[in-house]
Formats: sequence, C-alpha cells, structure tokens
Amino acid sequence: MALMGRMMSAPLLISTLLTHAERHAGETEIVSKRVEGDLHRSNWREVALRSRQAAQAFARLGCQPGDRVGTLAWNGHRHVEIYYGTSGSGLVCHTINPRLFPEQIVWIAGDAEDRVLCFDETFLPLVEKIAPLLKTVQHFVLMTSRAHMPAQTAIPNLLCFDDLLAAEDGDYAWPLFDENTASSICYTSGTTGNPKGAVYSHRSTVLHAYAAALPDAMDCSSRDVILPVVPMFHVNAWGLPYSAALVGFKLVLPGPHLDGKSLYELFEGEKVTFSAGVPTVWLGLLNYVKANGLKFSTFKRTVIGGAACPPAMMKSLQQDYGIEVIHAWGMTEMSPLGTLSKLTTRQLSLPADAQQRLLEKQGRVIYGVDMAIIDDDGRSLPWDGVSSGNLVVRGHWVISQYFKNDASPLVSVDGEPGWFPTGDVATIDADGFMQITDRSKDVIKSGGEWISSIDLENIAMAHPAVFEAAVIAARHPKWDERPLLVVVKKPDVTVTREELLSFYEGRIAKWQVPDDVVFVTEIPHTATGKIQKLKLRDQLKDHRLPTA
Ligand code: AMP
Repeated sequence: MALMGRMMSAPLLISTLLTHAERHAGETEIVSKRVEGDLHRSNWREVALRSRQAAQAFARLGCQPGDRVGTLAWNGHRHVEIYYGTSGSGLVCHTINPRLFPEQIVWIAGDAEDRVLCFDETFLPLVEKIAPLLKTVQHFVLMTSRAHMPAQTAIPNLLCFDDLLAAEDGDYAWPLFDENTASSICYTSGTTGNPKGAVYSHRSTVLHAYAAALPDAMDCSSRDVILPVVPMFHVNAWGLPYSAALVGFKLVLPGPHLDGKSLYELFEGEKVTFSAGVPTVWLGLLNYVKANGLKFSTFKRTVIGGAACPPAMMKSLQQDYGIEVIHAWGMTEMSPLGTLSKLTTRQLSLPADAQQRLLEKQGRVIYGVDMAIIDDDGRSLPWDGVSSGNLVVRGHWVISQYFKNDASPLVSVDGEPGWFPTGDVATIDADGFMQITDRSKDVIKSGGEWISSIDLENIAMAHPAVFEAAVIAARHPKWDERPLLVVVKKPDVTVTREELLSFYEGRIAKWQVPDDVVFVTEIPHTATGKIQKLKLRDQLKDHRLPTA
C-alpha cells in the first residue's frame, strides 16, 4: 500500500494571499491614479481591511456563495478590493470588458447572472443606458466616494462603494472552503458564437500567482514596483494583482490614464521597475518618450504579450532604453500565462542576433503548463523548430470546460485525451521555444482586443448590395491587426466602400468597424463551401490599409 505523506493540507484560497500581504507587506503601497483624477495612496493593510468590509457589504446586499459580482472598471485600488472581497468570501468576481459593444455587455452580464454590478464613474452613462436590460442585477454600485456621486441618475437606488464599506467594521474572518471553488470569471469574445466564460478556481489562481512570480516567468520580488498596464478586465491583469499579494510588491494602478504622458509620469513618479501590457500600449509610451527626449530612471523590465511583440519595438525598448523585454504568450483560457521568452545559460553565449531571434519567439512553458503541437489527425509533431502544427496545452490553470457548457472543448494528442486546443498554430524548437506562426481560429486581434470576423461578415451580408462577404485580419503598424472587409457585390448594383463602412455604424463598436473594403469577383471556398480564409489572407497580404 502506498505510504501517504504526513504534511499539513490547507486549501489554496485567494484570501490567504491577502492575509499574507497584510501581515508581511502591510506598509507596502498600492498607488492608484483614479478616475476622479487624484493620485490615491493606500497599502496592503488598508486594502485588506477594505476587502473584508467589501465582503461584509456584499453579504449585506444579500449575496450568497457562488453569486457573481460584475465589474466594469479600470485598474485601481477599489477594483483590487472587489477582487479580494468577492473571491475571498466565496463570491465570484466577474470582470467585464467595458470596451465591448453595449449589447455584448448586456449579454455577458445576463449569461453570468451577475447579481451586483460595480462600475467606475467613466461607465456611468453606459450603465444608465443598459441598466433596464440587466435583468439579473439587483444592485448597482458606483466605485467612488460620496463626494463624487451624481446628483441625479437614471439608475434606481445607485449605491456608493465607499459608503457601503464605511458602514462595515471589517471584523470578518475569511471563510474556508474547497480550493476548487470558482473565484472569478472572464469572458473571451471573438471566436464564433457568443462569448464564452473561463471560470477560474481558487486553486488555479493561487498556483498561477506562484508560477507567474518565478524568475524565469515575470520575476517579481518584494523590491519591485509593478504597474500592470494590462487591464484588470483582461484575464485578471495577467494575474498580477494576485502575485502582488503573494510577493508583497508595490502595485501602481493607472486607472483610465493610459496615454503616453500619463503613463510616463506615473512610471517616473512612483519609481516603477516592471510593467506588463499588449504591444499597442508601448507604442504610445515610446512615442511620447522619444518625442520629448526622455529616459526612464527605474523602469527595467516589461512583459509584452497578448499579441506578437513587433521586433522593432523590442529592439527600441532594449537598445534605446535598456529595458528587458519578456515576450509572453497565453490566453484567457489559460489564466493567462503559458510561455515566456527567457534565455537559458547556454543560449546566453550565442551570437547577439541568434539571441534576439530567440527572444522574439513566444518562449518556453513555465512549470504547470504542458504543451504540444499536433497535426489535423491529433498526432504530435516533432520539436524541431520547423514542423508547424496546432498548439494544444494542459495544466493546473488551463480550463477544462467553459461556463454553462458541458461539452468538452478538449482534444486528444496521440490518443491521450485532455488537451485544450488553443487555436494558435506554432513551431517548437529542440530547446522548447515556441513560436506562433499562424492562427486557425477565425478572429482578428486589434490592439489586444478581439474582433469577431463572423459578426462583421453577418452585418455586411445584411446589406442589400452584398452577395458574399469575408472579413480577414490585415497587418497594421499600430494595432497589429485590423479588419479588412472583402466583398463580392450582387450583379447590377452599385455600392461604395463608404456606404458599406457606414452600414456598420450603430451595429458594432466603432473600433471594430473594418478599416477598408476590397471588392473582388470571387471569394475562394473549400470543397465543403467554407471560405478559405488562409488563401484569402495570402491573396491580400500586400493590401495596404489606408489607416496604416
Ligand atoms: P486572449 O484570450 O484575449 O488573451 O487571447 C489569446 C490569444 O492571443 C492567443 O491564443 C493568441 O492567438 C494571441 N496571443 C497572445 N499572446 C501572443 C503573442 N505573444 N504572440 C502572438 N499571439 C499572441
């Protein structure tokens, strides 16, 4: 019979991260540039107290374990308090991407059955508009102080977050429960059909927080000052609010102030050492710094992911500003970290250009994630840096199912079940460095945000002059990808590019409207009648967008 270990066992709960931070990094600061415009200074002790008050306040509003609390909010201390106050007390924090079209937000909040909706002042007009459609939401909470509450609003019984907390004493013991309990939900939109919810657990979140902080991952220490530019509504800001408590580092939260000048001032003012974000945000910051002949005095490392990091951007950060760029790949369904590009000892003796080529790849997996590349029949392909296949993953923080969907998304590798298909196409070299070469999922990623080609095609197809429409991703220097509409017109009708583009107005968020239209006589199809997107993309690969 197996001999069992004789070690203590305690559930890996998110509340334990906060308790640790309160005790061991109580004075370490959390600085927030708030929507109100001020620079708010707090610390882990205060945030821990306010998180307990938030837990009490949500209970007073009638929330029961498992209930979802939605947020429409920027990165700020109140959002951190809601993260911990909900998850810690057994509720589920549901971060909603406010950049989505209002109809999508309504659908997502309804699907998650959010009972409470907490939101920043920026989103007051949006919530006023959609409140009557949010059938499951019983309480609307504005994340601000009494002084900033609106004198009048269309939202019935609008509550004030700071008031709710002030009414509680914070004398609250975090409950113990199963570590596999849901802690938060993040919807990922863009792929076919409605957005899908990734439901993280306490266990997956704590394990991810451990792994994310490791030296070969994000390398976070208590001496760091970390500014996540990546929003807390994008896969929990890549887990940084959790690693922050685990490690006890200073957290700097930029709120809605994401332009180059605001970010630069915050980086310098708060002595930020490390940051994380999608490539697009660095363009704004770099342009500002370049235009004004500035340098960074403390900023040393950054993780760039969510979309491929352009080599020129990586070089500029490294060579002009001495910033180490850690290229990373992951996805909502993976909490999100999968791979990071950090060189091994042997690779450090390679010529500079060979090192650079490796750093430009998406990198090696961290312990906790396992990956493979497979052909269309599920057979694994060699790690030779040349064979390209469908990238699949498994691990402690990879989803096994989507929210409210019992169908398994998982596939088999060489007959072994249990792998999540990422929809990315990649090579892996002998050292385990993965490089994304393509995408099999039919979506466009613009500035780190998904755009569904299917949605854009359906709108175009509703135009009376359109016979067939296909939307593909076209390269863009700022946004990485932008949608390009390819149209076959009906015979004997005239329609212009402008008419088609204006047809999108009011039907989809402005930033999702295609950048250009190409009229063709035929769109390539497979034998089964499906549009051959890869072929179409290849045919139009030299198309220059007017916005580029
Ligand atoms: P999301 O779920 O929104 O985080 O998007 C995940 C997807 O973004 C991945 O499946 C990739 O298609 C893409 N992605 C993320 N990081 C990278 C990267 N470093 N390089 C290329 N594509 C990436």
